[in-house]
Order: sequence, then structure tokens, then C-alpha cells
Amino acid sequence: MSSILAQQSANKNIFKDRFGVIAGAGRSGIAAAKVLHMLGAKVRIVDENTSLEENILEGLGADAQLKTGPLSASGFEGADIIVLSPGIPSRKIKELLPEFPDEKIISELELASFLTDEPIIAITGTNGKTTTTSIISHVLEYAGKSVFTGGNIGTPLCEHLLQDKRSDVLVLEVSSFQLQNCYNFSPDAAILLNISANHLDYHLDMEEYTEAKLNIFKKQTADDLAIIAEEMKPMLGSRNFTGAEIKYFNNDSVEEIPNLPGPHNRGNMHAAMLATAKFGVTSELFMKAVREFKGKPHRIEYLGTVNGVKFIDDSKATNLDAVCAALNSCSSPVRLLLGGHFKGGDVTTIIPSMQGKVVEVGLFGAGREYFETPLKKEFPTSWNEKLEDAVRKLFSTANCGDTILLSPATASFDAYKSYAARGDDFKRIMEELS
Ligand code: ADP
Repeated sequence: MSSILAQQSANKNIFKDRFGVIAGAGRSGIAAAKVLHMLGAKVRIVDENTSLEENILEGLGADAQLKTGPLSASGFEGADIIVLSPGIPSRKIKELLPEFPDEKIISELELASFLTDEPIIAITGTNGKTTTTSIISHVLEYAGKSVFTGGNIGTPLCEHLLQDKRSDVLVLEVSSFQLQNCYNFSPDAAILLNISANHLDYHLDMEEYTEAKLNIFKKQTADDLAIIAEEMKPMLGSRNFTGAEIKYFNNDSVEEIPNLPGPHNRGNMHAAMLATAKFGVTSELFMKAVREFKGKPHRIEYLGTVNGVKFIDDSKATNLDAVCAALNSCSSPVRLLLGGHFKGGDVTTIIPSMQGKVVEVGLFGAGREYFETPLKKEFPTSWNEKLEDAVRKLFSTANCGDTILLSPATASFDAYKSYAARGDDFKRIMEELS
């Protein structure tokens, strides 16, 4: 057994001789299967992908099983515990197994956090998770702490447990998918950055999405810290969402730095400052460290200037709120690129942030039916199938001093394999224009 698991876990014996079914053979599912096997459980992996082969069971014991094809009740037969990969809604499992206890359908995050005693800072929110997670890790490392950064980004927490390395702090980006199936998750410091319409193609409605996000605080106790946006106070009303000490962050308490432009990033920094303070980092040390933070690619990333026209890549803006954040961070005039797989929300909500700033809209790819009608009434708007043609159109009318901003408000998979590929393509187009 990984000695980190052996040493740390008061709970390590509860899976011995149990039967765990892991739904979803992605990276976190495989890591969860390995952890369960290491703790003496028998495992089965179920996945809809029929091209998966038995070699994924390597290292999971002679009695490990793989069942592929549509998820069905028989795939879960005999399970004592079900570990869900992000992307598989628990209501799908409940439909198949109406009698199965809710608290035995858990996320990989719940499994892993149940098995470790390392201090945790967890970050959730619709937007800003990766940025804030990265700021916190950077600052803690600057302050001399050993840090594991992962969860929803990079390395799943179960993989950390399988490596034999303890950290002073686990800094975890966590998604609503992971939080929805947590029952004991209790971070020492938890941040909820914001909640806006997103993933409504996955969650039943806003209430379910909000409840999942608030789950980050639910099991915290008086020694813990809950950090939440001041502007969310009215939305939270009289909800009793945590037993922890609550601190509020805002956009006005921390001075802006060039690599983290815009009011929303001042908010991200303030939240990060409150979380790292719990681990002994003073605000002076925080500011010193954060000034050396490089910024994350594809998030309001300045790419360069061609004939006096600035290019900014915000390909990671996959929803409308992120577009508003980008617009609030850019100087006018802006020529805005929107388009791709739209995940939901009211497009007219971005109009106030566009007014007085956006002089032209270039739509591209999918989502035209959502954007064109509301926006063309207010702004010169064109549509092209390809991002390249949309960029060339905007560039042909741009003046020196304008900004061409790719902040598409959509997921990229209508045309690209990831938001990063979409941003890289934007950069290539800019380079060809120069
Ligand atoms: P996440 O991991 O939650 O997707 P990222 O840090 O990757 O968040 O940023 C995603 C998008 O959201 C980017 O376009 C970024 O500029 C924008 N963004 C970052 N922080 C915030 C915030 N606090 N509020 C609104 N938008 C934000």
C-alpha cells in the first residue's frame, strides 16, 4: 500500500473486502479504482465506451472487471460503493438504482479527501477557479510550503494519494460535478467565487447547480474558513450553508497587477489572499508573490499587436459572465469574437458590458442562432463559419488602437478539440496577419 494511504487514513479499512463500481474510465476513475484496490476492495469499471480494452485493469487485481456499453443496473450489481466520474450525473444512476443509498454514490474527490488528513484549500465557482487555484499555489510555494495542486485540473486527488509524497497543503480546484457527490468533504479553507448560468445542459436547474456549489461549505466546522463573494450575500439570503467562519471578498481590496487584469481578477486575488492568510501568509508577502505570477494562457491573454491592433485571447471564456469580465478588463474600442457550442444563458445580459465599448461583433461557427438576433440590433454583426474568416473580417475594418478580443462565450468542441486549441488557432491567425 502507498505509505501515504497507510499512514494517513483513519478510514482506510472501511473498503476492505468491499465491492466498488467505478462509473467512467477516465483519469480520475482509474485513479479511484487503484485507490480502492489498494485498500482491499474488489473493483469493476463500467463505461459506455465499447472500444475500451481489458488492459485498463492492469494493477487492479486479478478479480477486477470491465463492463462496457450503455450504463445499466446490472453493471452496478453487488456494489457497496459507486464512484462517479465527472460528467455522469448521479440522477442517471438513481434512475437505474432507485433503492441505492445516495451517500454511497460518491465522487472521486469525496473518496480521496476521505482518505487524507493533509490540509485542504478548495476553490469552486462558475468562473475563475483555475486562475485562483494557480494564484494560491504560486503564493504558498513562494512562502516555502510544499503544495499539491490538482482536483478538477491536472492531477486527480486519488493520484496524489497513490504517489508517496505528503504536501503541506492540497490546493484543489473543484467542480460542481465533483461537489454534487460529496458528503464528508470538509476543506480547511473553501472559496466560492461566483455562480452564474453554466452547465445547465448537465444540472437540472440553477437551484441544483447552486446547491452543488454550496456543498463545498456544508461539512466545514468552526475551525475552517468559508470565503465567498460579497456580492453573493443577497443570493444566499438566510441560507445556513456552513459551520465555518465566513469571510467575504470583493473587487476593491487588492491592487491590480498587469498579469491579472480587470476587476474580477482583483476579486480572485482577494479571495486567494484570505485563503493563504489562514496558512500564515501575510498580505505583504502575498502581494510580493503575486506580482511574480505569470497569468494563465487563454484567459484575457495579450498576444501582440498587428498594425496597431491589439489581439487578446480569452478562449477560456465559455460562458456569458466570463465575456463580461473580459470586456470590463479591456479598453475600447473592442471588436468582439463570439461563437461555438453555447451552453445556455440569456445573451442579452452581456449587452450592458458591450455598450460604449464594442464597435463590431464577429460571430463564428456554431451558436449563431443564439447570438445574431439579440446582438445585431445593437452592433454591426457578421457571421462566418470559420474563426479565421471572422478574424480577417474584423481586422479588415479595425483601426489602430482597436482590440480584437476572442471571448467566445462557448465551449469549443463544435470546431476544436479544446479551448486551448481554439486560442492557439487565434494566435496562428494573428501571426499570419502580421
Ligand atoms: P475556470 O477554471 O472556473 O473555468 P478560469 O480561471 O480558467 O476559470 O477562467 C475562465 C474564464 O473566466 C476566463 O475567460 C477568465 O478571464 C474568466 N474569469 C476568471 N475569473 C473570473 C471571475 N472571478 N469572474 C468572471 N470571470 C472570470
